[in-house]
Amino acid sequence: MRKNIVAGNWKMNNDLAETSELLTHLKMQLVKEPTAEVYIAPAFTCLSHAFQTLKETPIKVAAQNMHFEKKGAFTGEVSAQMLQSVGVSTVILGHSERRAQFNETNEILAKKVSAAIEADMEVIFCFGEELKERKAGEHFDVVKRQLEEGIFHLSKESWKKVILAYEPVWAIGTGETASPDQAQEVHAFVRETIAGKYDEATANEVSILYGGSVKADNAREIFGKEDVDGGLIGGASLNAIDFLAIVNSFE
Ligand code: 13P
Repeated sequence: MRKNIVAGNWKMNNDLAETSELLTHLKMQLVKEPTAEVYIAPAFTCLSHAFQTLKETPIKVAAQNMHFEKKGAFTGEVSAQMLQSVGVSTVILGHSERRAQFNETNEILAKKVSAAIEADMEVIFCFGEELKERKAGEHFDVVKRQLEEGIFHLSKESWKKVILAYEPVWAIGTGETASPDQAQEVHAFVRETIAGKYDEATANEVSILYGGSVKADNAREIFGKEDVDGGLIGGASLNAIDFLAIVNSFE
């Protein structure tokens, strides 16, 4: 059975004091048995603190990025082993901001995915089309290529460690959400594509999150769609009340 998941991608927000404050609120207000698995992804500088603070709670801590090499002369980079050494065993890879602003190609992402899986980490793999691609009706092709080139080299077995996140670039931080039907359409297509490459069981077991302007007031409708298993939340994850309202948006 696939899981409901809500993950907060804090992006480059919250220093240590702000992280500490937000975590206090999340810890206090999270219901005892949430109907979704909850992740937060703070900045690298706050991962250790977040892990220590949350280790006796159901909230998991994820990193927003990592390098594919294990160690060496890669100034400014962080390896899987470094993340694991501070308690982090999940990493977000392929976010559209990494792709667009830091030149992360499908080829680079494929190496990162391999490095994370080899290190036994869980991967939240993001993909999604840009506005011009959606307007040209190319979104299915773009998504298929991102999956084929970025993650379809994994063995079937490795998919147990994969969570997918469809994030149409035009819906990120814009207030313009994909409609629940638009999200469902792409998620169903992704499952079909995975079934074609692997098998039905692999396709049915992977959680596919939607990301892009998910808020407390639209989450329920989006998460209600058959192939949408939760959300990757940006802006609304920076406020404990909003984020927890989204966490509680499953039927
Ligand atoms: P927003 O929720 O701010 O649109 O961001 C979505 C996102 O990029 C999550 O990774």
